[in-house]
Amino acid sequence: MVFYSTRSKEIQAKSAEAVLKGIAPDGGLYTPLDFDAMRVDLGELLGKTAVELSATVIGKILNDFSPEEMRALIEASYAGKFETDDLTPVEKVGDDFVLELFRGPTSAFKDVALSVLPRLIVASREKLGVTDEIAILTATSGDTGKAALEGFHDVQGTRIVVFYPDGGVSDVQKAQMVTQEGSNVRVCAVRGNFDDAQTGVKNIFADDGMNHWAAASGARLSSANSINIGRLAPQVAYYFKAYCDLVLRGEITLGEPVNFVVPTGNFGDILAGEFARRMGLPVAKLVCASNANNVLTDFINTGVYDRRREFYKTTSPSMDILVSSNLERYLFMASGGNFELVAGLMNDLKEKGVYTAPESLMAVMREHFSAGCADDRTALEAIGRVWNEYGYLMDTHTAVGWAVMRAFKQNEDNGYVNIVLSTASPYKFCRDVLSAISDEQPETGFAAMDRLNAVTGVPVPERLAKLRDMPVRFEDCVDKDKMLEYVKDAVK
Ligand SMILES: *Cc1c(COP(=O)(O)O)cnc(C)c1O
Repeated sequence: MVFYSTRSKEIQAKSAEAVLKGIAPDGGLYTPLDFDAMRVDLGELLGKTAVELSATVIGKILNDFSPEEMRALIEASYAGKFETDDLTPVEKVGDDFVLELFRGPTSAFKDVALSVLPRLIVASREKLGVTDEIAILTATSGDTGKAALEGFHDVQGTRIVVFYPDGGVSDVQKAQMVTQEGSNVRVCAVRGNFDDAQTGVKNIFADDGMNHWAAASGARLSSANSINIGRLAPQVAYYFKAYCDLVLRGEITLGEPVNFVVPTGNFGDILAGEFARRMGLPVAKLVCASNANNVLTDFINTGVYDRRREFYKTTSPSMDILVSSNLERYLFMASGGNFELVAGLMNDLKEKGVYTAPESLMAVMREHFSAGCADDRTALEAIGRVWNEYGYLMDTHTAVGWAVMRAFKQNEDNGYVNIVLSTASPYKFCRDVLSAISDEQPETGFAAMDRLNAVTGVPVPERLAKLRDMPVRFEDCVDKDKMLEYVKDAVK
């Protein structure tokens, strides 16, 4: 499989190199075009275990690895880490379905991919005969950071630095990161929002001086963000898994299309759904659900991507994003690999903060995508309603998806089954979830955790419950223009 940089024709890589580099040298994102070569036979997947199914799907995308290698790698990646061997179970809630992606070690969907990525990087390093230490730089809106720390801590030959927006993550998310154990980890707050942190990290990657400096110190920079194709590939598997589960349960027949509703920030999760569709999964619509930061809703509906707007801090902080990195990959795919177009649009975004996609591209997109947004009030109402009606407790991100699904069913119901992707445990965002189902407003996140458990009886994930007793290891906080210096200090 060839992975192209989205921004120039000359830059290509095979899967191991793309995983190891994370981002292409021209700032583009490694993206495949030949999805027919990655086609999956659905019938063959039915009845496979979650691990077997994942290995099959991921192996189609990252085909530098043999089926045996991939199978062993995936098995080792997930062994003993998830609450269920199913990895990503599907629950029926009323007439609809919720795909629970949060049963992993950090209670967010990022675990599905970040349990696998460290092993993919180490295996790619070996395959390519690289001996440098791999320094992982990651910007997080809350969940990626912890899931990456959990995946990379004490992994030989790697080091990881995580930046999160100061004041931009929940109490529980912050506690998860600043208490992280491991001798090769650093965690630092950035004075700014997630986009500032993400831009800072992208700039470090693009900084030639930094790359030379790293090479001279025997290190190579790579990314655990969803700009790394090794992050996306494992996410493709659960779309197939959910579909197969519904077939086996008799909820749908093999070949029947379904809709997936995806709470979206960086456009990674939903892009994995588009990969699955192009690889043969019968998907009618991918519904892109945003919170008040609804730049993607506007884009899909109008073709104008305009980040020059107010940034809102919402109760779904992992979706508080105005620059959705992975949309670049989609533009590339939907334009049939038009490097010049994508490079031009990305340049407009950087220089002017806005771009307009050609109508022909938007027509392709609207065939398969639909978009909606829900503000905090609507999302919290959805949590309350679903809890009261069905006794099912959702987190604030999933609630955005649920609310957008309701509007989708009202406005453009196509009659197919709807599957909402549930991206986090309600206990990661317990203060807001509690406020949605009761009048209580405890002072701290941990007090809210106890109350939410008492009121609902839904068990607290063990590792979240234990957090409050763990010592804080990291209290660093830097200005956004000081991130490079911080990295140099951490990597030396
Ligand atoms: C990361 C995240 C999202 C958004 O996923 P993208 O791949 O960035 O679109 C949604 N919900 C939660 C809980 C997340 O952690």
